[in-house]
Amino acid sequence: MRSALVTGGAGFIGSHLTERLLRDGWEVHVIDDLTTGCVGNLDAVREHERLHLTLNPIENEPVLMELVDRAEVVYHLAAAVGVKLIVEDPVRTIETNIHGTELLLKHCAKKGKKVLLASTSEVYGKGAKGRFAEGDDLVFGPTTRSRWSYGCSKAIDEFLALAYCRSRDLPVVILRLFNTVGPRQVGRYGMVVPRFVQQALDGGPITVYGDGQQVRCFAHVEDVVEAFCRLTDCEGAVGEIFNVGSRQSVTIAELAERVCALVNPQAAIVYIPYEEAYGPGFEDIRMRAPDVTKLQAAIGFEPSQDLDRILLDVKKHLTDR
Ligand code: UDP
Repeated sequence: MRSALVTGGAGFIGSHLTERLLRDGWEVHVIDDLTTGCVGNLDAVREHERLHLTLNPIENEPVLMELVDRAEVVYHLAAAVGVKLIVEDPVRTIETNIHGTELLLKHCAKKGKKVLLASTSEVYGKGAKGRFAEGDDLVFGPTTRSRWSYGCSKAIDEFLALAYCRSRDLPVVILRLFNTVGPRQVGRYGMVVPRFVQQALDGGPITVYGDGQQVRCFAHVEDVVEAFCRLTDCEGAVGEIFNVGSRQSVTIAELAERVCALVNPQAAIVYIPYEEAYGPGFEDIRMRAPDVTKLQAAIGFEPSQDLDRILLDVKKHLTDR
């Protein structure tokens, strides 16, 4: 039987990946400290005989070492995520993202365990291109703006993972996840889709930050999980970076209108200055879309769910809860 360790397995993406691996017949060890995840995310599989849940930070070295020993493949998703959390607690962001990953990579390299590292489109920073390919430059703002600490910390993780791959033979695959949405994502840390859907369900208003002309692409979490699974056994993927995301782009103003139409046509849409939402000096990214040519060539990736289906799925989840 194949065995996996999913760090951050009680989080939004991690819990979907855990469920999928169990469905595919894997033994799954999850480690999560529940800072942004919650045990409830694993409710559907909580009693599964092949699921083993450890509530601990990945910085707990002896625990981490034991779990790495048991796994054939390590999916590393434990990280501080969400623009709001990052702006509010930059120390935790930097420490969690760098220190935890460093420990994990060190032990995986010692034991020769394959690692799939969840990185983020935030590493592209504010590059002017808008549609990013894996070889593009990373362009960050000044260190006085805490938003960039997230992208920088994940960029360090990528550097370290590739360094271990090249000089210590660690088999590693890096996935740069663009905006990923779906059931169980919470709006607390700033994520726009669950926020808009919940606001519409509550009768509004839907709060668009800035002028609403910023562009994003939203992929369903199940499509992202599919990419993790296919890349696991993709020979040519080791030592490579892949963008993972949807190609369907939308402005945040259009997103607000779609949410309104699908969830509650009575809800008003209001525009709020960035300073009011994130404090002074916040810099947003104007356009961010993935070039997924490389991913398609490697695994034939094609997202299966469009924006309307994603929004209806999120609505269903928030209503059922
Ligand atoms: N946003 C918004 N209203 C909200 C939350 C977010 O208009 O209540 C905007 C945010 O400023 C950004 C976009 O929606 O331009 C996507 O935000 P999110 O935090 O989901 O992801 P990001 O792409 O910024 O990492």
